[in-house]
Amino acid sequence: MSTHSTFLTPELNDYLARLFSAEDNDLRRLQELAAEAKIPAISIAPEQTSFLQLMISVTGARRVLEIGSLAGYSALTMAKALPQDGQLLACEIDERFADFIEARAREAGLDHIINVCRGPALTTIASFTPEDLFDVVFIDADKPNYVRYLEAVLPHVRLGGVVIGDNCLAWGHVHEAQPDYEPSNVTAIAAFNDRMSTHPALRSTLVPLGDGMTVGVKIREI
Ligand code: SAM
Repeated sequence: MSTHSTFLTPELNDYLARLFSAEDNDLRRLQELAAEAKIPAISIAPEQTSFLQLMISVTGARRVLEIGSLAGYSALTMAKALPQDGQLLACEIDERFADFIEARAREAGLDHIINVCRGPALTTIASFTPEDLFDVVFIDADKPNYVRYLEAVLPHVRLGGVVIGDNCLAWGHVHEAQPDYEPSNVTAIAAFNDRMSTHPALRSTLVPLGDGMTVGVKIREI
């Protein structure tokens, strides 16, 4: 028995990535093409892929909303865990990235599941009707808007659905009161974690995988 945490060393991280990565040939090819297209290498890490797929399986998800999709690495990861009639809305503001995601979704035979919503994610979310409900929402766009994304999407998460935010350890600085590193992003992520940990509609925790993923299950209506 142990009452304290085991901290991840690079060796332990490699070990869990080796055992629990869901990265397959489609996802490896996507990353190669993204590098050739000079799309920044700021996707989730391979060791986070199985966790996203696990969230989809445990919720029995059919509808997923992703806020911030870049080249489509996490979108393809989640789409692969959805049933054939599942739907994933990928919000992406950059037109070039949106085109890239659509091409990769077609190549992987997932274009019937992945639907790219171009433009600012807050505008996309504001266009939802009360009937637009999601089982899983993955927030991974501009950090200063994280709390706004959370408040905007919560009415569109079904009871028992989950909200996941990425980069919730803020590159290792989230605990600092006055961070020198990317202060506006770090303080925005800290505010998101505070809201996730205290929101009355959520039961949450921070899973220290990759740069940290804060996950909350919706336990009551707001
Ligand atoms: N989830 C992706 C993955 O793991 O493969 C990585 C997403 S990347 C960290 C953040 C993305 O959010 C970028 O592609 C950026 O263009 C997009 N983004 C930034 N601001 C946005 C906004 N207001 N609305 C929609 N997308 C936005």
